[in-house]
Amino acid sequence: MNKPLLLSSFLVFILSILLLPHLSKWSKLKVAEVADLLVTNAFIYTSDPSFPFANSMAIKNGRILGVGNYSVLQELEGSTTHKLNLEGKIVVPGFIDSHLHLLYGGLQQMMQVELHGVRTKQEFVMKIEAAVKSKREGIWVVGGGWNNDLWGGELPMANWIDDISPQNPVWLSRMDGHMGLANSLAIKMAGITKETKDPLGGTIVRWADGEPTGLLIDAAKKFILPSVPEPTIDERREALLRASNYALTKGVTTVVDMGRYVPGSSAELPWEDFTDVYKWANTSGNMIIRVCLFFPLETWSRLYDLVQKTGHVVSQWLYLGGVKAFLDGSLGSNSALFYEPYADDPDSYGLQVVDLDDLINMTALSDKSGLQVAIHAIGDMANDLILDVYDSVASENGERDRRLRIEHAQHLAPGSATRFGKQGVVASVQPVHLLDDAISAEKKLGKERAEHGSYLFHSLLASHSLLAFGSDWPVADIDPLNNIRAAVTRIPPAWETPWIPSECLTLNNALDAGIRASYMPIFHGLQEFSVTFLFDCVVTCQYLWQDHLRIERGNLWMNWKGIERVNGRQLPPMGGSMILCHRRIYKVVDLLTC
Ligand SMILES: [Zn+2]
Repeated sequence: MNKPLLLSSFLVFILSILLLPHLSKWSKLKVAEVADLLVTNAFIYTSDPSFPFANSMAIKNGRILGVGNYSVLQELEGSTTHKLNLEGKIVVPGFIDSHLHLLYGGLQQMMQVELHGVRTKQEFVMKIEAAVKSKREGIWVVGGGWNNDLWGGELPMANWIDDISPQNPVWLSRMDGHMGLANSLAIKMAGITKETKDPLGGTIVRWADGEPTGLLIDAAKKFILPSVPEPTIDERREALLRASNYALTKGVTTVVDMGRYVPGSSAELPWEDFTDVYKWANTSGNMIIRVCLFFPLETWSRLYDLVQKTGHVVSQWLYLGGVKAFLDGSLGSNSALFYEPYADDPDSYGLQVVDLDDLINMTALSDKSGLQVAIHAIGDMANDLILDVYDSVASENGERDRRLRIEHAQHLAPGSATRFGKQGVVASVQPVHLLDDAISAEKKLGKERAEHGSYLFHSLLASHSLLAFGSDWPVADIDPLNNIRAAVTRIPPAWETPWIPSECLTLNNALDAGIRASYMPIFHGLQEFSVTFLFDCVVTCQYLWQDHLRIERGNLWMNWKGIERVNGRQLPPMGGSMILCHRRIYKVVDLLTC
């Protein structure tokens, strides 16, 4: 643990002791209420900066009735109330992942060729060879997760794998989803030749003679994706179950699912997933984390119609969020849009993957209909374009609390961080990506440009922007502690010192972005859909805040639904989750002795 981390946690600890006797905000109680569960003698981190810690918490019907001192909360105790003495253990709210692709993450875990972490060309080729051998002739081989930065940057080409896959079409997505590699058979089946023109917002990467190399960037993937076999309904359902379970093992109880839509794919995918998978899970009791769904911006009117009929809250597990679009691609695929050209590709400024007029029109219409809009922007120019779009939409549609979001906000031009705060735009960021990007950003942008404008979390907070953390899983692992650690330390693997130290966050700010601030961007129905009101929390086996912060991995979640009895008595349905630690699943009764 580094010093600033220790210091800030120590300050929080002292502050909490000072504040504990005065807690009253959380204790506005209706006298007639009786709690189902009274958690006592705990060290509860409320994530509310004005009352950071409390010692007791009362729960009824899966909702928090009050958090505060036992002397106040004991009024809620009745003959039917279960009491849980946590003997001083630390409790924190469940983490929220503000941006991920839940089914895509689950499917990637089930995928035929998993290329995450592959570090050499040889290993890459061997994995595909093994997958091809297990297939009959003509059957597609599909995989993903590769990152060319891990083997020095050279991009894979179809000729790496053509010899080993003469009879099987192959499609392998890059880890960021913005680029993919097809073998020559797949390129031929898709009808891509040297004559094929690049589509708007997409690039067919070519050899000097114009022939395709097999690499397709952003919108150019549309040539091939319709031929790649779609996972079945059963596979997608299994993906949701796997992904949800995985999220819980990492302490994540609520996620914002940006869906399976990426430039070049069909805008129907998230709608099919909603109908075939989420509605099924919701009615069959298979939702175990809370999911806020975003749909492609171009389908905004469909979402508007649905929200008119059902409202945003489908159930306590499922929530219709807003609409999402892309303005550019990714840094790793050289398709993020910058003012200056790429240092490693001086002819390229990146890609604008949508028509700007269409984007402005659809954003204005969605906003006018009350839908929240989130737009992906990585490069500095892309971020400014979106800030301009949001500015014009706000002045056209009038003042209101709209919490427009920019997804990633990764590289910003001088002064742009301030605009987030001024315009009230949510910066939905992924600190964990900086660990990989520290090296590639300097290569692609040059050291100076990279250091002035990359991952400006401190500047964004200082300008009063709302900062929300997400993992973009499966691009990075879902573990929220990775984000917190990356935002506080900014030390990439094998580095000794932080990358752009002036942009490090304090631990409190980072925790806030991972817990409290992350529910703010989940806009509508906030009262019903927030960690402070729904009973989703983490119980650790630590007694001291400092010790808790040393425990960084290995926590395990158990859902209340799976707990039948406590002290021999039937538990009422809680509808929430509780995390238990030490790499073991504990029953609640065990928790008392863990
Ligand atoms: Zn994403």
